Amino acid sequence: MMTREMPAFDEVVRFHGHRCPGLATGYRVSELALRELATSRSGDEELVAIVENDACGLDAIQYVTGCTIGKGNLILRDYGKQVYTFIRRNKSDAIRIVPHPREDSKESRMMQEIVSRVFAGTATPEEIERVASDRAEKIEYLLTASLGDIFSYRHVTADIPEKARLFRSVACARCNEMVSESRARVENGSIVCIPCFSEYSRGW
Ligand SMILES: [Zn+2]
Ligand SMILES: [Zn+2]
Repeated sequence: MMTREMPAFDEVVRFHGHRCPGLATGYRVSELALRELATSRSGDEELVAIVENDACGLDAIQYVTGCTIGKGNLILRDYGKQVYTFIRRNKSDAIRIVPHPREDSKESRMMQEIVSRVFAGTATPEEIERVASDRAEKIEYLLTASLGDIFSYRHVTADIPEKARLFRSVACARCNEMVSESRARVENGSIVCIPCFSEYSRGW
């Protein structure tokens, strides 16, 4: 089997800005997707990711798999769900990945209360320390556990989204800035951009 290089996690941390469990999850999601679809980082649009949340993990997915918002091969369906689907266009293979749900124990509920105190700024130094070490442990687990222990996944048939299209730009009749035809609105028969259209429809 060909080797597919994963960048070091620290590299991804540099890109994202901090170390967090969400980023570690996205890192392993990417590893699983590349392994299961037998592919490497996508330079073009061969690999497509459909993600159902817009949290930290996305940055790892963009960095590691090469599926990015800018290239149009990362599609955000903002359902607030931890579900990741990857499609390999030319092999018509796809995989749907879902992390195992977090355990709901007395201890994890207590931990959540402490975390909310940390965010509210009312935690004791011991609690802050505890949250930090719990986070570090979580990250360590996510980086070292086997992929099957962290995720459930299955190969699926997914509709292949069409490749990114190039749209013509037109000038907005109100602000005169250019706007892609695919996003333009019509106001009294003139073409306008969304911000200008919103002002119009609010009646200002
Ligand atoms: Zn983060
Ligand atoms: Zn405008």
